[in-house]
Amino acid sequence: MSSSTGPSVAIVGTGFGGIGMALELKRAGLDDFVILEKGDDIGGVWRENTYPGAACDIPSPYYSFSTEPNPAWSSRFSPQGEIKEYMRRVVNDNDLMPHIRFGAEVTSATFDEAHAQWRLATDTGEEFTADVFVPATGQLSRPALPHIEGIETFRGPSFHSAEWDHSVDLRGKRVAVIGTGASAVQFVPAIQPDVEHMTVFQRSAPWVLPRPEVVYKQWHHTMFRKLPFTRVAERFAFWLLCEVLALALVDVPKMRPLFAAIARFHLRRQVPDRRLRAKLTPDYEPGCKRGLFSGDYYPALGRPNVHLETTGIERIEPEGVRTTDGTLHRADVIIYGTGFKTSEFLGPMAVHGLDGRKLADEWSEGAHAYLGMTVPGFPNMFLMYGPNTNLGVGSIIYMLECQARYIGKAVRLLARDGARAMDVKEDVARRFDQRLQSRLNRSVWTLCSSWYRNEHGRITNNWPGTVSSYRLATRTLDPDDYRLLDREEAA
Ligand code: NAP
Repeated sequence: MSSSTGPSVAIVGTGFGGIGMALELKRAGLDDFVILEKGDDIGGVWRENTYPGAACDIPSPYYSFSTEPNPAWSSRFSPQGEIKEYMRRVVNDNDLMPHIRFGAEVTSATFDEAHAQWRLATDTGEEFTADVFVPATGQLSRPALPHIEGIETFRGPSFHSAEWDHSVDLRGKRVAVIGTGASAVQFVPAIQPDVEHMTVFQRSAPWVLPRPEVVYKQWHHTMFRKLPFTRVAERFAFWLLCEVLALALVDVPKMRPLFAAIARFHLRRQVPDRRLRAKLTPDYEPGCKRGLFSGDYYPALGRPNVHLETTGIERIEPEGVRTTDGTLHRADVIIYGTGFKTSEFLGPMAVHGLDGRKLADEWSEGAHAYLGMTVPGFPNMFLMYGPNTNLGVGSIIYMLECQARYIGKAVRLLARDGARAMDVKEDVARRFDQRLQSRLNRSVWTLCSSWYRNEHGRITNNWPGTVSSYRLATRTLDPDDYRLLDREEAA
């Protein structure tokens, strides 16, 4: 790739991040970009997660691009297929498809100092060069299987929720589900009516809030089309609600008991059985792990063919799951709703910056990036949904739009100033990280273990605040935060 009009850009991934970045470049009239996608279709996590019941648990009017409204969502919490179709429509409407190269998994990215360009290699041996490198591979793209002894000995089918094996017929089967996070609370109620018996293994009880579902009728769609402010008002209402909830996570801990009370009320209303309710009552601060929104999870657990097991798992055997009390829970199928490898970020991709430094070494104690996007020594690399940009509650698409705008500004700056590369200054990145970590140390996420923290106890995933505060932090790009390298310097 090369351009006479501006820097060329290589984006990795066609999830909301990659598409959002491409939209921003298109809008700015910057057409010299390619999107490399390992799969054969667009969609990121919304392509991969096809488990029964998969849906967004943030309302779609808010969980969508601000510039690409959809008045036709079938329901407020739209299902996976519809979200993927929405993404496809955005790609087609904005003529992004010609920019996408499918079947191109980037295995390494190296900054070529002599030419101030990134060289990307794919698993098929192809090479791409670009001035700007935007990995948009997300935090939740690589499924994590638990480290449980004997996991490989199970004799029936077993799979992870993000790699659902649709060829396995669950009807009339005894199913073991391990994990009770955001994915499990969606697929457990969806498969419960089909299975003969289901044992759900819960290590810690999640906080569950009601999900204010609305199935939109024809009149809603007409109203959203003819009176767009009604659609905007709904988006605004959920933005505001999430902002208030986000305050409780870091700045206003006094609000947490209120959310705990709402969740307990929800539990009491939906689970009449005292013993089951006791098992389902969380023993940690609300918000410490991701809060869940569901109206059908608790009722599913109360069905006669479901058993919630809270005794720890000792090992997996050919016949099922053995708990530490010696009981063997026989199963025909095991489903792992055990989450993702969330702390490795770019993961298996080998990324080398200035002087051959490795990103994996820079991040050996935990990933960090200035504003979640740039890392000293890795010029012209801008991450989307990078370290500390996940939300405890809120729409990640809002965060991605902030990042796309910021990166768009960087690309325009490079085009305008004739600089070939920009490298965030060490001291700027260090001060930012110190401020961030000191805020994070006051957050609710320090109070338990979750996928937000790595094995060193560092919170690598979450943004400590509201989305508005992130918007404010990324609204302008201060060129003084960066060393601008011209062609000769970079060489
Ligand atoms: P998760 O939230 O990380 O949950 C993993 C579950 O597996 C937890 O209950 C965990 O227990 C359990 N677990 C892990 N290892 C275990 C082991 N060795 N033994 C027993 N239990 C084990 O994963 P997820 O449900 O896939 O969700 C991941 C993230 O994806 C969510 O937080 C959310 O951000 C996103 N998501 C979003 C939506 C949406 O609607 N937008 C839907 C699904 C997922 P502990 O809690 O005790 O660790």
